[in-house]
Parts: sequence; structure tokens; C-alpha cells
Amino acid sequence: MRYRTLPLFLLISLTLSAQNPNLPRVIILGTGGTIAGSGTSSSRAGYTAGKIPVEDLIGGIPAIKEYASVSGEQISSVGSQDMTIAIWQKLDKRINEIIASKEADGIVITHGTDTQEETAFFLNLTVRSSEIPVVLTGSMRPATAISADGPKNLFDAILVAADPKSRGRGVLALFDENILDGRDMIKVNTTKVGAFAALNTGPVGQVYDAKVVYYLHNDRSDLRTPFDLSKVTTMPRVEIVYLYADSPADVIDFWIGKKVDGLVLAGVGNGNMNAATMEAVKRAVAAGIKVVRSTRIPAGRVVLEDEVDDKALGTIASDDHNPQKARILLMLGLTQTKDTAKLQEYFLTY
Ligand code: GLU
Repeated sequence: MRYRTLPLFLLISLTLSAQNPNLPRVIILGTGGTIAGSGTSSSRAGYTAGKIPVEDLIGGIPAIKEYASVSGEQISSVGSQDMTIAIWQKLDKRINEIIASKEADGIVITHGTDTQEETAFFLNLTVRSSEIPVVLTGSMRPATAISADGPKNLFDAILVAADPKSRGRGVLALFDENILDGRDMIKVNTTKVGAFAALNTGPVGQVYDAKVVYYLHNDRSDLRTPFDLSKVTTMPRVEIVYLYADSPADVIDFWIGKKVDGLVLAGVGNGNMNAATMEAVKRAVAAGIKVVRSTRIPAGRVVLEDEVDDKALGTIASDDHNPQKARILLMLGLTQTKDTAKLQEYFLTY
């Protein structure tokens, strides 16, 4: 066999497994995003997300061969603004297969940053075990940019996935040397390299000089959930309504007309709403739609039975889940039950 004729990635894998049979095995599942983005010049911000295949991303960090035996699979090639429930289901299925077959010791998912927090939370709720760490990463700058951040993030994410200390922590994300919990991570900057934070908790750990260090354990992130997607065919429809000063009730009435299964309010302050919205929420609840009060505020929580009488209104408080994460939990919750009290319990547990 002439190695010269093999793709670079295959050559690297063969060399690694020949040299280091005892290294942790990490599978990279590529979904697209800026980390796989390609631009026309090193100084231009314009680029196309999701173009570079996962094999080439691995080829860009040859030093990883000292730490892990890495292989790659392409799940999708999309900018994460085009992430879909169907791709989440495909990811979830493949991850659960890898866990069941013990094909790998860790999994890294390369992903655009725009909706990375949603994918992380979805997988945190649906992956059946966290004994094989699952770590999302991405980048803010494409591979062709000056000081591209993708190779470093990918390198560090592989270290986190390969590290036994990462087991039993739920789905994680690695960004800008921070290890963030998939439940709590949110995107907090539209353009900067340090784009992610967990505002209520902080990072659970860090990576520096190729060392993985943990400081915190998030007890709400590594829980057995009842959300088993292998038994779900259609996902309930849950939509988000953004509230603001003098916001009208029309949008809620529109969704009532569409017969959605659930609505999440991106409320003001502690999940508050104006009088017109409250009347529309009563109509939604009367129509059998489950309504969750979340907030447009990025930190803190929405407190049950605080300013709003949830019992009288029939609403569910989101606790510390932002609207896009609350939508995911309500969707998954509705695959199990239509009981408002049970759904509320999910929000206070997961
Ligand atoms: N909007 C694209 C995405 O989320 C590119 C941005 C990024 O990855 O940071 O995939």
C-alpha cells in the first residue's frame, strides 16, 4: 500500500493507531459552522460556514497524535443557523450508538456557534449516558483568518473528551480554554473569540498547556432523563414569543390559531408580561397549549409563583433556562406528558 495515495486524515489515523494503540480513542462528529468555514482572504471577515470536512480539521492539528487516536465522521455541513431537529436526532442516534458499542472513549462535535447552546442542551437531555464524554466546540474565526481559533479549540476539546475526569458531567463545551457545561452555556458575544459563558455558574473547568482542570461539578447536568428519542417519531411544536414594552397579543393569538403544542415567553424581567399578553396566555392555556414563562434577561432565573400567579394562570416557570433552552425542554417534556405539574417539575430538575 502506498501511503502517499491515501487521504491525509487516513494516513494520520493509521500512523496513530500503529504507534499509540493505548491512547484514548476520540471520534469527531462534524456538523459544520465557522470552524469548518473558508474565506477568500486572511483579512476578510466574509466566509462560507461549514465548507471544510472534518478530516481536514483533524489534519490541521497534527500534535494531537501524542494525546489521542482521532477519527472523524461528517454528520452535516451547515452553518448552525440552519441547525434542525432532524440533525439533532441524527446526532443523538449516532452518539448513543457509539456509547452502546464503546467505539470511542470520547466524542467531540464541531458545530457553528450560533445555536451551539441549543444543541448542547438538547444532547444533554437526550444522550443516555455521560460515561463517554461528549464535548462541543467551534470557532469564531474561519480557518483562513489571521489567528484562527478553530485549531486550538478543537485540540483542547479533544483533550477534554479524552480525559477520564470529564466523565459523569453531562454534555460539555470547550471554547477559548473554558470548559462550559452544556446546560448552562450561552453565546454572549456575536464576534469575539471568547463568545461563550455560563452567567449563573461560570465555567466548570479550564484547559491550559494541554492540561484539563475541573473546578466545579454541575449537579443538574448529569441526570438520567426520561427523554428517549428512540421512541419519539414526531417532536411537539413549541414556539417562542418575545415580549417588550407595549407588546401586542397578536403573535400569541397567531400561534393559538396554528394549534402549537407549547409556547415559551421571552418575558421581561422575572418572566413578566403585560396585561394584553396575560389575557392572550389565558386563551392559549384554555386551548390546551402549555405556556412557559422564560425571560429575555441573560442571567438569573424566573421564579415560580413570584410576581406572577402561575397556579391561577396555568403557566410554568422556566427556572434558569433561557427561551431557546426552555423551548427544547418543553418540546422533550411534551413527548412524555401533558401534565402541567409534571412539566414544571422537569423545569425545576433538569
Ligand atoms: N453562523 C454560523 C454558525 O453558527 C457561523 C458562525 C459560527 O460558527 O460562529 O455556524
